[in-house]
Amino acid sequence: MKTSVIGYPRVGIFRELKFSTEKYFKNIITKEELRSTAFSLKETHWKVQKNNGIDFITSNDFSFYDNVLDTAVLLNVVPSRYKQLKLDALDEYFVMARGYQGEKGDVKALSMKKWFNTNYHYIVPEIDDDTEISLAGTKPFDEYMEAKNLGIETKPTIIGAFTFLIVAKFTGGKTVEDFINDIAQAYSDILRKFSEMGTKWVQFEEPALVMDLSEEDLILIKKIYSSILSAKGSAKVLLQTYFGDIRDCYSEVVAMPFDGIGLDFVEGKKTLELVKYFGFPEDKTLFAGIVNGKNIWRNNYFNTVNLIGELGRYCRNIVLNTSCSLLHVPYTLKNESSLSAEYKKHLAFAEEKLKELSELKVILSVNNPLSTNEYIENQKLFNGARYRQNENVRKAISALSQEDFIRHPNFEEREKIQKAELNLPPLPTTTIGSFPQTAEVKANRSDYKKGNISFEEYTAFNRKKISECIALQEKIGFDVLVHGEFERNDMVEYFAENLDGFLFTEKGWVQSYGTRCVKPPIIWGDISRSKPITVDYSVYAQSLTSKYVKGMLTGPVTILNWSFPREDISLKDCAFQIALAIRDEVLDLEASGIKIIQIDEAALREKLPLRKSDWHSEYLDWAIPAFRLVHSGVKPETQIHTHMCYSEFADIIKDIDNMDADVITFEAARSDLSIVETLKECEFKTEVGPGVYDIHSPRIPSVSEIKEALLKMLEKIPKEKLWVNPDCGLKTRGNEEIIPSLENLVAAARDIRKGLSV
Ligand code: GLN
Ligand code: ZN
Repeated sequence: MKTSVIGYPRVGIFRELKFSTEKYFKNIITKEELRSTAFSLKETHWKVQKNNGIDFITSNDFSFYDNVLDTAVLLNVVPSRYKQLKLDALDEYFVMARGYQGEKGDVKALSMKKWFNTNYHYIVPEIDDDTEISLAGTKPFDEYMEAKNLGIETKPTIIGAFTFLIVAKFTGGKTVEDFINDIAQAYSDILRKFSEMGTKWVQFEEPALVMDLSEEDLILIKKIYSSILSAKGSAKVLLQTYFGDIRDCYSEVVAMPFDGIGLDFVEGKKTLELVKYFGFPEDKTLFAGIVNGKNIWRNNYFNTVNLIGELGRYCRNIVLNTSCSLLHVPYTLKNESSLSAEYKKHLAFAEEKLKELSELKVILSVNNPLSTNEYIENQKLFNGARYRQNENVRKAISALSQEDFIRHPNFEEREKIQKAELNLPPLPTTTIGSFPQTAEVKANRSDYKKGNISFEEYTAFNRKKISECIALQEKIGFDVLVHGEFERNDMVEYFAENLDGFLFTEKGWVQSYGTRCVKPPIIWGDISRSKPITVDYSVYAQSLTSKYVKGMLTGPVTILNWSFPREDISLKDCAFQIALAIRDEVLDLEASGIKIIQIDEAALREKLPLRKSDWHSEYLDWAIPAFRLVHSGVKPETQIHTHMCYSEFADIIKDIDNMDADVITFEAARSDLSIVETLKECEFKTEVGPGVYDIHSPRIPSVSEIKEALLKMLEKIPKEKLWVNPDCGLKTRGNEEIIPSLENLVAAARDIRKGLSV
């Protein structure tokens, strides 16, 4: 039995790619130096897979920024505004991802969206009416050759044509239909070229097949692939799906002339059932996704051996595979020096997952798998209790009643009370919370962590930053201020560190977008709060100003979604545990005189199940109540804000309103203002601050463009309900970018305010 990996993380164990790319952006290193870092990372990753005995190693899973953007460039899907800048290929590529402002012009970046149900963000390809799709690049071929020259035969991977069309945005009058022939031709050309190069397998990634598919989708899939596969040369084609099962197209897909089909047995609830019911063609290879590419727990060989045994009755050729790309887990446990072996033995990051695949290969190649050392050792991990329990938490959860999820009085009455109490101007201005995490801010935290400075020194520095931040916001003229979050490395890790029940890694970085990586905590037990977390800094910030300063918290769904969850209790129970802990913090803030409290649910939309039929039963039915539980205990005059990244929530708009916050801020700048129309249509009650500019790009928005956005919003949103803010926290930006941007934002709000009859 052979082993395969869908894709490997690419940023480097020590985030080498991130640091090199950032240096390149700042002109500190040359393009050649950046390329050489990239090459050595690719080489390392291929070799580590080779050394672990992986049979199907992937190439072209590397990316300088994002592999959907790579595919767009490969297919010549480059909007003319970028081509007009006449930059060289790599710079044009980065400009599509980040925008450009300089002597050659001023263009915005392409939008960014979450990749299915993950916290990885892809760049949204834009297909304009004048787009001509054709094979226009060489990256997959170059990378295949790079590996080959190292003596490693790889299977190059490319985002499949169907998924590409599904995730792309059509900006003009043309639709998918208009591009089918061209895109099929481009993919046929890719296959032909690989065949000519002697490539043995090519992988097309088609996660979009796990979603709800319509009749038209099925027709499209058949059309595209029958055309692409008719041009197939000697290279075998693997159709790789992940993030769920392909129940809507299984029988169609297995009937097509693919050589291999990759199915996800971890997230795909119905995958096994589908194989059993429809069977699996003898002439094809099943790439069975059994090692979880999204979570970090050791594989339970008992379950895997049973599953493969069962599959063996239906499939002749099986390859052991990861369930999705390993991009979504950290690199390795090797450098985790402060985690004890007791914990580590239960964990598997990317490199350890390679070892699991190779151990499973050994186990499954013998007659009596259960007698192998690998199997016996593995099973020891699963005997006995593993997670930390807390009886008080369990009791509190079981004592919850309906009333705990309802805030009184209702929204309309609270809105009146808060307008009178807070007395804010129309179109109040605010920010999302964090201010730039400058080198000195990071140094302060790391010096404290390393023990180089005392707690007093550490706090004194943070207080100084808070007072500067308050002064800056007052000077710019904001109405509702924030303390700036200088004590926080990351909005989830910070809370996890201050709650009980979490474990942390030192180097467990996972790519979130481009050069940004996050270090998700690991949920190891029942979650509780032993002492106030944010109260001191919030109270201090509030003491410096007569304006309101928002208390700033992260919500339970986001803490859960951005952690690696335990697998022994339900996500619902886990979310409620976190909710009770954050609820205590909300009440402490309120008791300390904080009038406005923001509870960020940046990641709420992210884990919405990919299939509509699961939305409520598997997710919203507990996620929305978890949020309500956090704030239902506050007084009517305390204003609760929430923030969500990305405005892709038109389809769950009622549920968002049902979170029953008083104000919600969200991203809107980067993905046009269509959400605003939806707010109007559904008579959204919550006050809203659709972000007026994109903080993910270094570009500075002008006063007139912010005014224009606000005027558009005012066509649909009553002026009493509109807030003015950037679209996300400012921590990833520099002061030189945010100060002029925020000044323009306040100037724009003031200008518009003048024209309003109030
Ligand atoms: N309050 C957080 C911040 O400003 C929110 C971040 C986020 O939405 N991702 O950084
Ligand atoms: Zn955000």
